[in-house]
Amino acid sequence: MKASSTENKSEQTKQIPINVLLGLGGNVGDVRDHLYNSLKFLMASGDVQVIRVSPIYETPPWGLEDQPVFLNICVEIKTGLKPESLLRLCHRAEHSLKRRRTVKWGPRTIDIDILLIGEETIKLADLTVPHPRITERAFVLVPLADIAPEWKLEGQSIASWRQQCDDSGVIRVAENDIFGDLISLSPSQGRGSIDDELNGQVGQ
Ligand code: ADP
Ligand code: MG
Repeated sequence: MKASSTENKSEQTKQIPINVLLGLGGNVGDVRDHLYNSLKFLMASGDVQVIRVSPIYETPPWGLEDQPVFLNICVEIKTGLKPESLLRLCHRAEHSLKRRRTVKWGPRTIDIDILLIGEETIKLADLTVPHPRITERAFVLVPLADIAPEWKLEGQSIASWRQQCDDSGVIRVAENDIFGDLISLSPSQGRGSIDDELNGQVGQ
């Protein structure tokens, strides 16, 4: 039987669920809230399950130094979304948290980067995986090594990359307790009135 065009469309955005590592960070407003609400937003899609969340780190600004310190975490999720759909969902989460793209590497409420998608290599116009700057960034490697030390990047473990990086100024400021209620819920349990909850909570 021929599938309808709607079914075809939804099939194109889905694949067999796979584990993915994300990096999140921000330095505008209540960033702990933004980190939590970003994960909640991703889960509200019904397509993302949060498996592991790192502790929260305070990290020095990178690329553009004259701006406030950042808070960063890394997260392991499981998702059946295809990479391009996951990127779009991440951009929607950033947008809902009032991120405005003004200055490259400048201040932001939240940035969500797709670091690794299983062992896949992707080179599209707007998506490169593994994320090309992981090995240069202690603000990624330190939290990433907490949750995914055995994952491999360019033939080396994340733990080994983390040992080689300059982690000066990267300070663990909180454990992952604030994310406790999001971890290991089934995706549908994260579904809710996220837009209502976010309204008025975040500023630029
Ligand atoms: P950065 O993350 O380097 O601070 P941005 O968040 O402004 O910069 O991202 C710029 C662009 O990078 C995005 O529009 C996105 O399409 C692209 N991009 C390429 N690869 C990735 C990836 N793996 N994860 C997230 N964004 C990516
Ligand atoms: Mg980004």
